[in-house]
Amino acid sequence: KGKRAFIAGVADDNGYGWAIAKSLAAAGAEILVGTWVPALNIFETSLRRGKFDESRVLPDGSLMEITKVYPLDAVFDNLEDVPEDIKTNKRYAGSSNWTVQEVAESVKQDFGSIDILVHSLANGPEVTKPLLETSRKGYLAAISASSYSYVSLLKHFLPIMNPGGSSISLTYIASERIIPGYGGGMSSAKAALESDTKVLAFEAGRKHKVRVNTISAGPLRSRAAKAIGFIDMMIDYSLANAPLQKELSAEEVGNTAAFLASPLASAITGALIYVDNGLNAMGVGV
Ligand code: NAD
Repeated sequence: KGKRAFIAGVADDNGYGWAIAKSLAAAGAEILVGTWVPALNIFETSLRRGKFDESRVLPDGSLMEITKVYPLDAVFDNLEDVPEDIKTNKRYAGSSNWTVQEVAESVKQDFGSIDILVHSLANGPEVTKPLLETSRKGYLAAISASSYSYVSLLKHFLPIMNPGGSSISLTYIASERIIPGYGGGMSSAKAALESDTKVLAFEAGRKHKVRVNTISAGPLRSRAAKAIGFIDMMIDYSLANAPLQKELSAEEVGNTAAFLASPLASAITGALIYVDNGLNAMGVGV
């Protein structure tokens, strides 16, 4: 029987979430996605109008089907968390059941269970500011959207994850090495995400036989990355300095996620896997 995946953080066809969805679909999984509420309308409209059809083509020539798109805002765990200005915000008022707990409940009602959970989302409102210029509010917002969002997703989805299931997040090497420009507490948020991967692997493994891993991905020109402002420089740097001198494709990250979600990776948990053309292994630029 095919597996079912819920991928949080898909709002166009440029990011890692989309590529992971494709690799999982190519391997036979049923695809559910969670899309950030403010981006939902344009994503669903574009999907419906065929704007992504070219990007939906799988290796066998068929088109990836997304069985259902759920509105999601991963900084809110349940309705009690949602402040009045968001509740009444035009972009939010048009959707419902988009807090993490409600999305997990909806997926349970619709499908009963899932096998694969993917967290492919991050947000740091002050990402362009150096850490020394980052406000407490901006720092905590980065951690909330980029790190705790994963703890919360896993916490709420674990009860509906089948034993043998697999959970994957995306991280970036700025957590462990200095990458000037990746500011606003985003480097801190990725460090938290990586540390949590280990603790969550223990807790989810013991309690639910679910594996928890993270992929440290190289630079990709996604919407989120373009907002940071230094992505072209990072891609050029990798091309010049990585052991493998080629541009990283999102598909390479997608394929690693498909491997990690498969029985081929049945003994891998608590791991950080670099998918970055080997750049992490370099000690100096060349
Ligand atoms: P992306 O723009 O495709 O994905 C980020 C998604 O997060 C967007 O769809 C956005 O709508 C969503 N999002 C933001 N706040 C949210 C919230 N509160 N609730 C729900 N969704 C929310 O960009 P991407 O670069 O593919 O990012 C995916 C993951 O990959 C992120 O964790 C990112 O840090 C990581 N990553 C990216 C790169 C890169 O160079 N692009 C490198 C390493 C790691």
